Amino acid sequence: MTAAQTLAEVQHVYRTGRTRNVEWRLGQLSALQQLLEDHADAIETALQTDLGKNGFESWVSEIGQVLHEIKALRKQVASWAKPQRVRTPIALWPASSKIQHEPRGTVLVISPWNYPILLSLSPLAGAVAAGNAVVMKPSEIATAVETLLAELIPQYLDPHAVRVVTGGPDVVNQILNTGPDYVFFTGSPRVGSIIAQACAEQHIDYTLELGGQSPVYVHDDANIRTTATRLVWGKFFNAGQTCVAPNHIYVHQAIAEKFQAAVLAELAQQFGPNPQTHPDYPRMITPDHTASLAELLAASTGTTLHGGTIDAEQRFIEPTIITDIAEDDALMSRELFGPVLPIIQVTGIDDAVHRINQRAHPLAAYVFTESNAIKDSFCDHVVAGAIGINIPVMHVANPHLPFGGVGASGRGQYHGRWSLETFTHHRAVLDKPTSCDTIKLLTQPVPGWANRLV
Ligand code: NAD
Repeated sequence: MTAAQTLAEVQHVYRTGRTRNVEWRLGQLSALQQLLEDHADAIETALQTDLGKNGFESWVSEIGQVLHEIKALRKQVASWAKPQRVRTPIALWPASSKIQHEPRGTVLVISPWNYPILLSLSPLAGAVAAGNAVVMKPSEIATAVETLLAELIPQYLDPHAVRVVTGGPDVVNQILNTGPDYVFFTGSPRVGSIIAQACAEQHIDYTLELGGQSPVYVHDDANIRTTATRLVWGKFFNAGQTCVAPNHIYVHQAIAEKFQAAVLAELAQQFGPNPQTHPDYPRMITPDHTASLAELLAASTGTTLHGGTIDAEQRFIEPTIITDIAEDDALMSRELFGPVLPIIQVTGIDDAVHRINQRAHPLAAYVFTESNAIKDSFCDHVVAGAIGINIPVMHVANPHLPFGGVGASGRGQYHGRWSLETFTHHRAVLDKPTSCDTIKLLTQPVPGWANRLV
C-alpha cells in the first residue's frame, strides 16, 4: 500500500466519527502507555543502536517524557472534549453561543532522528487526545527506532486510525499531495520551509517545531561551578544533538578564565579522561553528520581549548571547547547539533544581547546570573522560543509550559494543554431560536434607516 493510500484510508476512518469519542481517545493514550511499559527494553536497545544512548538517558529524555505527557493529557481529555459555553451580546438575543473543540481531522506527524521516540510519540499522544486520526512518519535516519515503531504501533493503537509510514521525503510528499487536514512537523528550519510552502499551496494548517542556535549568556555574578555543571550536562547530553542544546556561550570577560577552567573540570568529572571508551557518552547519528561537523571544525580559526578528536567511522566526536572565535567564524555559521561548544568573551549583557539579536530567533536562550535585574533585562530584550534562567534544556520537561519556537525556530507550540490547543479547531457555534425573530429588524427596508441618511 502506498503512503497516499494509507492517508486515504485514515481519512475514511476519521469520517466515521470514531476517533472523536472520549473513550476512544483515552483508550489510545492507555494503549500508548502500555506499549512504552511493555517494550521499554526494546526501545532502549533501538536508541542505543541509533544514537549510542545509555538506558538512563533513554528513559529520562524519551520514554519517561512521553509517559509524563500521556499523564498530563489524560487528565484533560474529558473536559476538553466538551463544548465551552460563552456569553452572547444583547444585540443577538435570544441566542446561545458555544465553542466546540473540534479535532483537526487527519494529522500527519513528521519527526526527526535526534529524539526519535519522544518527538514521534509525544505529538501522537496530543493528536489522539484531541480526537484526531494520525499518520506518523518517523525519521528514516534513526532506522532501528523507525523499524520498531512501525512494528509496535499497529499492535497497540487502533490499526485503522493510527498508522505509521516509513521512508524519507518522497513519502512525505505523497501524503502532503493527498491532503491531510493538519501537519505537525519537527525538524530543521530548511525542511520546515519546504513543508510550510507545500501546506500553504493546499491551505493545510500546520505547526513547525524547528531548531536554531540556542545561545547562552553567563554574567559576571554567575555561580561558576553550578553554571559549568549544568551547561556541560545540557550541551553534551545526546552528544549535543538536542534542539534546545546550548549552541554557544557568551561569557562576561571578567570571569571568562575561571569559567573555562570550571567547564574543563566538569568535562573530566562527567566523561572521564577518555570519552570514546566512556559507556555513557553517545554517538553522532551517522558518519556523514560526523564528517560535516568535522569540516566546520577544520574551517574554524578558533583555539581548541579541549578535545577535537574525531572518528567519523565510529561516529565519535570528543567533547570539544573552542575559544577566541569571531561572530563570522565557520563554527557560528549554523546550528552545530553536536558536541562542539564555542565560548566567546563579551563585555556584558548589552554586548551579549546585541549579538544574540543579530542572529535568527533561537528555539531557546539561556542566562546565568544571580541578579534579578539581569534576568529581567535578558527576558525583556531577547527574542526566543523559550528562556531558561540558570538552567538549560529542562523547560522542555514541564508539560505546563508551552514548547515551541518563534520566527526561524518555529510556529505554534505543544505539550500538555498546548497540545490539545494545537490539535484542535476552535469552532464557533451560534444557536438562535426562530420563535422570537429579532433578525427581522435587520432585513430591508430597515425602519428609520433611510431617514437617517438625509
Ligand atoms: P530534517 O528536517 O532533515 O528531517 C525531519 C523530517 O523531515 C524527517 O522525517 C525527514 O524524513 C523529513 N524530510 C527531510 N527532508 C525532507 C524534504 N525535502 N521534504 C519533506 N520531508 C523531508 O531534520 P533532522 O535532521 O531529522 O533533525 C534535526 C533538526 O531538527 C535540527 O535542526 C533540530 O534543531 C531540529 N529539531 C527540532 C526540535 C523541536 O522540537 N523544535 C526537536 C528536535 C530536532
